[in-house]
Amino acid sequence: RKVIFSGIQPTGVPHIGNYLGALRNWVKMQREAEPDDQLIFSVVGWHALTLPQDPRKLLQTRNDTFAALVAIGLDPERSIIFHQDQKEVLYFTRTRLAISRNANDESEVDESMLNTGLLTYPVLQAADVLAYKTTHVPVGDDQQQHLELCRDLAESFNRSTNNSLFPLPETVFNPAKRILSLKDPSAKMSKSARDENSRILLTDDTITIRNKIRGAVTDSLSGVSYDTEARPGTSNLLTLLAGCLDEDVHAVAERYKDKGHGALKIDVTDVLEETLREPRAEFFRLRADPGHLQALADKGAERAKEISQRTLAEVRRLVGLLTEF
Ligand code: ATP
Repeated sequence: RKVIFSGIQPTGVPHIGNYLGALRNWVKMQREAEPDDQLIFSVVGWHALTLPQDPRKLLQTRNDTFAALVAIGLDPERSIIFHQDQKEVLYFTRTRLAISRNANDESEVDESMLNTGLLTYPVLQAADVLAYKTTHVPVGDDQQQHLELCRDLAESFNRSTNNSLFPLPETVFNPAKRILSLKDPSAKMSKSARDENSRILLTDDTITIRNKIRGAVTDSLSGVSYDTEARPGTSNLLTLLAGCLDEDVHAVAERYKDKGHGALKIDVTDVLEETLREPRAEFFRLRADPGHLQALADKGAERAKEISQRTLAEVRRLVGLLTEF
């Protein structure tokens, strides 16, 4: 039996990179799961606190992220969808680390980044993964190291308690390509990048999509070809198109070799609109009823807690903090 667990930060409405790179895969896993497999998807509020956040904005994006998970087709009856921050954790993320800095050091070290949250982030993530005895974690390749730490922690707990309480979770990589910023194709598309025109949100309307794609950075070479080194902007549009169509990017590129950027941008716009139409409509339907969303979140939190409390009781028993029956 599989226990599948993954999470998303509540740092903004998910963008098309999140969708093609992660969320769409979660929906696929839900569709393909065996009846007794367990799927758990979490909005990881505590993890967002590694960086400074505006509380009012965070509250909005936290609820929007939850709504987006339901809107794309995760079913709160089939999967457990919940806010990780509804769990009782007191997480001091912003404690500054004492670092010695060379007074002449001109390097761009942003001290707000150097806090305990950054160090404990992978440990908190491991705690989330292990609390549900997760066997499979679908994540991007940037998460590989975190998952290794998680397996190490699980293994060392199992060894020291002479038990096999925690399965060692496997990483399930998503084959989807990384989607890049529309404005700076040397960076990935990100929720927290300053320029809003650098990303397509799940909530963008037709005109916004058209304007953002029209303004996407490409190059001045003629024709269209897939070459991530020489033509990152153009290639990113092809990746987007291929991702939405679920086709091979080289096959898609072949169809555009005699066309120009204009034709490519029109087709990317159309296919994005097609991809986002339903989730977007569902998102706004859900958001119009905050009471219903809260009820879904409470139900998810309750189901998640049932499992994690059971695990915690087993941990307590194994380490000698709970009477054995
Ligand atoms: P932020 O920019 O605020 O750090 P993010 O956009 O990177 O946020 P996360 O919440 O950290 O999003 O990640 C959610 C999931 O989306 C992860 O599995 C991550 O690998 C994936 N993901 C994030 N950005 C992209 C992208 N540009 N292309 C493909 N997948 C992405």
